[in-house]
Amino acid sequence: MSKNFQQQAEALREKIRHHEHLYYVLDAPQISDAEFDELVNRLKALENEHPEMVTPDSPTQRVGGRPAEGFQKVPHSRSMLSLDNAYSEAELRDWDRRVHELAGDGAGKVEYVCELKLDGLSLALWYRKRMLARGLTRGDGAIGEDVTTNVRTIRSVPLSIKKNGLPADFEVRGEVVMPIAAFQKMNDEREEQGLARFANPRNSAAGTIRTLEPNIVAQRPLMFFSYFAYTADGADLFDKHWDALEALAGAGFKVNPNRKLCKTVDQVWAVIQQWEEERDALPYEIDGIVIKVNATRLQRELGFTGKAPRWAIAYKYAARAGETVIEDILVQVGRTGKLTPVAALKPVHIGGTTVSRATLHNMDEIERLGVKIGDWVVVERGGDVIPKVVRVLDDKKHPRGTKKFHMPAKCPECGGHVVRVEGEADHRCVNAACPAKARLSVLHFASRGVMNIEGMGDALVEQFAATGLVKDIADIFDISEDKLLTLERMGKKSAQNLLEQIAKAKSAPLERVIFGLGIRMVGERTAQLLAEHFGSMDKLMAAGTEQLMEVEGVGPNVAAGVREFFDEPKNVKLVERLRKAGLTMKGEARKRGTKLADKTFVITGTLPSYSRDEAKRLIEDAGGKVSGSVSKKTDYVLAGSDPGSKLDKARELKVEVIDEAALKRMIGL
Ligand SMILES: [Zn+2]
Repeated sequence: MSKNFQQQAEALREKIRHHEHLYYVLDAPQISDAEFDELVNRLKALENEHPEMVTPDSPTQRVGGRPAEGFQKVPHSRSMLSLDNAYSEAELRDWDRRVHELAGDGAGKVEYVCELKLDGLSLALWYRKRMLARGLTRGDGAIGEDVTTNVRTIRSVPLSIKKNGLPADFEVRGEVVMPIAAFQKMNDEREEQGLARFANPRNSAAGTIRTLEPNIVAQRPLMFFSYFAYTADGADLFDKHWDALEALAGAGFKVNPNRKLCKTVDQVWAVIQQWEEERDALPYEIDGIVIKVNATRLQRELGFTGKAPRWAIAYKYAARAGETVIEDILVQVGRTGKLTPVAALKPVHIGGTTVSRATLHNMDEIERLGVKIGDWVVVERGGDVIPKVVRVLDDKKHPRGTKKFHMPAKCPECGGHVVRVEGEADHRCVNAACPAKARLSVLHFASRGVMNIEGMGDALVEQFAATGLVKDIADIFDISEDKLLTLERMGKKSAQNLLEQIAKAKSAPLERVIFGLGIRMVGERTAQLLAEHFGSMDKLMAAGTEQLMEVEGVGPNVAAGVREFFDEPKNVKLVERLRKAGLTMKGEARKRGTKLADKTFVITGTLPSYSRDEAKRLIEDAGGKVSGSVSKKTDYVLAGSDPGSKLDKARELKVEVIDEAALKRMIGL
């Protein structure tokens, strides 16, 4: 029986690893997300029955306990050095000349490997007995921080590898990056939740890897690209750097495919120029090209100059910035009614495109920059599609502007009142029927990740608004084929396709419907929590502020956003029309038991078979509550191995301490 289980579980794990590799490493999935989830759920079910047989490298074990007291400092096997930079062709050729001089006899055979310089955070991963044992940040280069629990959640990092070209103990170094699309989505969500935006994908990757919540890390799609392979003591593993990259890829690591072996500096220069042109097409940010001497023996001969190796150089692309004049400051109205000040610029060429608009985000940002209409400013283009103003130029050559910008008191789209809620950075149009809001809310509703109505993009929604065919999200479900055919450039086939897509949207689950309503402060994750907690639209609509705040992760701002939305009779009517159209208004409510009713738990340390999240869910499903800190109100402290200071606190306050087995008995598992 147990042997049978082990075989079944291992077969499932192998299958899941295979598909993780296809999806996260090779970007070539062969099964749907739903099929993948199904495999994981089957494995979880098996493992829940036999928790003693869970292996640490099981795909279910990516999210574990959180680091108890910050991150431990650990010395690197060999220094994690930063590279010298080259900013021009001349500097690159100088470096090449020095390499050839120092190489002496072997000079004719010098080969270079060119790799994209990813704009992320460097990590060192230690594998012991073919299992991921440790993940370290660069730190000061000599000593890094142990971020293993967070690194484990990155799906392109294998938790274990097969016998495959690498020894049992080895080290991999590489870069963790956040894709631009994920970065933008995260920033939009943060904005909706009233949180500050991250400045760029690098900051958000770095901030994510250093958060103390592995759950949060697991939700953010970080990618890890490997580019060095060493022995466990930090010695070279291969004679050629190129072979190291090939071996890493062969062992299941993600290695950037845009690498090139070059025999001459001219070839290197061609690679640099090519990617300067094409960098915008990449899904992540790069800021240059790294050039390394291919032969590791020659690398050792060349050695180091003070802090940086002589055998590698980073060619850095010029920052994509330009100087221009702000001719005017306009205001754009967003889906939530947010008014965004946008600088209208004298057109300027930056990194191959003409830029004539740049965002100024909000009034706080305008005040921080001290920007006025007529000012000369520096504009930068980064991962964000919209360029931004980074600073005002103030010198003899650049006279200051004189006209101050004021946020209009009336919405430029509809003339509705504009308010700035106390404590918020943003101004908003309060008119629920504001056409700008309506247009953008229809676009949001139809978008991927919400109702997923393919073919309903910008242009069509614009046409809908202009013809009055769709004025709000409920109108979408009243569209007929005849009416669609009255639109310009709309053929019979595409009309039918669109109607099919719309019909399909009716079966989207409750959380999508809630998300699709475009309630202020309610992003994808919050919508899911609300759907799970209330189980139906009716219960959500009836919930008061206090009931809303009982939902984990819902604070006063979100609760106010939800109430504000449903207190508006027009919005209630809108929901009724969606209900009539046949949209999902009920979800699967979490069934709550009563075995732990009114009991408050605090979880500390690593539990033998459940992650903290799973334990929390078990407790909540049985009617209990989980709190973050121990107080006199705590009924039980659930402690695993390596408990933190919470256990001391529990003893001090004489709170009963239980283990996982005791919890299982309490809830009858
Ligand atoms: Zn308006």
